[in-house]
Amino acid sequence: MVEFSVPFPARLKKKGLSTVEDILYFLPIRYEDRRHIKKIRELEEGKNEVSQGEVMAVGEVRYGRRKIFEAVVSDGGGLLSLKWFNYRLPYMKKQYESGKKIIFYGTVSSFGHKKEIIHPDVEFIELDEEDDRINFEGIVPVYSQIDNMRQKTIRRLVANIVKDYAPYAVGCAPREAVKRWGLVKLEDAFSCAHAPEDIVASSPQLSLRRQGPLPEGERVLDPPQLARKTLTFDELFSLELGLALKRKAVKKEGGLVMRGDGTIEERLKSLLPFTLTNAQKHVLGEIKKDMASPHPMNRLIQGDVGSGKTIVSYIAVITAIESGYQAAIMAPTEILAEQHYLTTHRYSEALGVKSVLLTGSTAFSARKKVIDGIKRGEVNLTIGTHALIQKDVEFKNLGLAVIDEQHRFGVVQRAELKRKGGAVLSPDILVMTATPIPRTLSMTVFGDLDVSIIDELPQGRKPVATRVLREKDRSEAYGIIAEELKKGGQAYIVYPLIEESEELSLRDATRMKEHLEKDIFREFQVGLLHGRMRAAEKESAMRDFKDKKTDILVSTTVIEVGVDVPNATVILIEHAERFGLSQLHQLRGRVGRGEKTSLCLLLAQYTKSEDTWRRLKVLENTMDGFKIAEEDLKIRGPGDFIGTRQSGMPEFRTEAFSDLSLLKKAREEAERFLESDPELLSGEGLTVKAVLKERWAGRLSLAEVG
Ligand code: ADP
Ligand code: MG
Repeated sequence: MVEFSVPFPARLKKKGLSTVEDILYFLPIRYEDRRHIKKIRELEEGKNEVSQGEVMAVGEVRYGRRKIFEAVVSDGGGLLSLKWFNYRLPYMKKQYESGKKIIFYGTVSSFGHKKEIIHPDVEFIELDEEDDRINFEGIVPVYSQIDNMRQKTIRRLVANIVKDYAPYAVGCAPREAVKRWGLVKLEDAFSCAHAPEDIVASSPQLSLRRQGPLPEGERVLDPPQLARKTLTFDELFSLELGLALKRKAVKKEGGLVMRGDGTIEERLKSLLPFTLTNAQKHVLGEIKKDMASPHPMNRLIQGDVGSGKTIVSYIAVITAIESGYQAAIMAPTEILAEQHYLTTHRYSEALGVKSVLLTGSTAFSARKKVIDGIKRGEVNLTIGTHALIQKDVEFKNLGLAVIDEQHRFGVVQRAELKRKGGAVLSPDILVMTATPIPRTLSMTVFGDLDVSIIDELPQGRKPVATRVLREKDRSEAYGIIAEELKKGGQAYIVYPLIEESEELSLRDATRMKEHLEKDIFREFQVGLLHGRMRAAEKESAMRDFKDKKTDILVSTTVIEVGVDVPNATVILIEHAERFGLSQLHQLRGRVGRGEKTSLCLLLAQYTKSEDTWRRLKVLENTMDGFKIAEEDLKIRGPGDFIGTRQSGMPEFRTEAFSDLSLLKKAREEAERFLESDPELLSGEGLTVKAVLKERWAGRLSLAEVG
């Protein structure tokens, strides 16, 4: 799109507006219908209303201990107060002089008998502007505030740019697709989103030049809505097309062929105290097929907590080692890395696999030895945290990299690990996540990965009996825990990490630990685990719990991922109302890992809201991580699942993920388009390619864009 030749003013830049395209996508936050402005006496309490009038009196007023700036407005038929609690007095005094005419917008309330609006949006009507159409007639766009620029100025600026440049706007979505979904041309979408009234006026029958009939089941949208949907679709299409190209590029790239002869695997299986579930076998089959193929594997294993992902990835590791390559497992936390190391170590030893642990707290001298071993190829399996991707770590011939709990790592780290290969060809990548992501989303978040799902838990797993409790039930909760402990079980008690203050939650956990061991669970041992402890302390806290030296582990959410102590049979989560359902489900997954029936107690302290209560109740009724994730998605939106910033996707200018069905359509269309024009060589293909290059700016390699 066209760059602005004159430099944009600094205050626009500060708002992130530095190109014409930025301005086109600077969509109004709302529209104000000024065609029939209400009289003051017609304004309804509790509603967001627009009205106009003349300032009659202004000044600072005291209400008790507070100072308020107040302006009384009249339109001849009624009076209304506008009030501000935060203001700069000199500025307000200059702005609001009696006699000035204004248009104001806000929520109408009443104070005594008088109507008022607190912190209204105000626009001044200058005398010479009374016939200024774009500002005071029709449906007027209202923009997010830019510095202290007046709405009028913003409106004029945007309107000019839309007029001059929207006709040249080039979209990504092909004409056919736009037609199929009843959308409009990008040009029209911009004009209409910024000036709905003009469009309606210029083509009254159609109200918008829809490019095709409305598909079945679709709602008729008002013009600005349709415009926005068009813009969103266009972005989603370029996202999906980019992802599809990435997948294709990987398929073309040469990769290692790894095919073990199965002897070590057979020995491993004889060591395991269980047999693999069918789901594990199935997923393992998919992985092995990928590893044996001459293209790099990029596969995601999704599996609910406790579904047994670790062993599956370990068998993949063995396969790589059998084929003469090195393997690595990268985990998001030291605790988790250590745990992977400990659980796999006994097998590795028995099988003659040399494995090492490498984390941020590996001592300097030990670290040097470890790194040398990796470089020389003496080490077969390296398990660690992101310490693995530091500069000085180099592999001799990395064949497989396993990344656990992917949602903590971005695409960038994945790429980093890939580059460590040492071998000429890219290593295979296996990503694991226990955060069940609704399918529609996972296609996008992990859009360039093939997905395998372990959809079965090992036999004999009993669902974790879950109960939502209130503060008044606390002693009952403690009673339940004590009973479990007496039966020989162990317990987790978890405190949330409070966003505003990590300190506070640490204090909570620390203080509660003391309180619990002194006052409540006197005959038991209580341990403590939180993120700020030194690695060695963490490890010993975990080890003590594992070895049953402690009965209760008081912890922050550091135990959220992967910690595995089968003897723990009860988990109490404090302030459950502060967590997302999926996160609670993860935490709950810390119990129910052994033969015994387990319990999860969710203590919801500060909640009067029925919604929160109902939300938590979902956990009482299901153990299905996918269902829970869908529920979270409904309530909290997709933000929790998608960190676009860290996932290496392009950033979106529209609310791209507000409409999942649109995402699906975009994906279908992207695939359809690539089928008809795989190299993007048609006229439309070339355009699409250009737009794609710009939007993905460097995030797609040139090979991918062709
Ligand atoms: P997650 O998928 O949550 O990472 P893990 O890999 O930690 O799960 O496995 C959870 C527990 O289940 C571990 O104790 C593991 O040894 C055990 N496990 C794994 N596969 C099986 C199986 N097929 N049968 C019984 N237990 C299994
Ligand atoms: Mg795990």
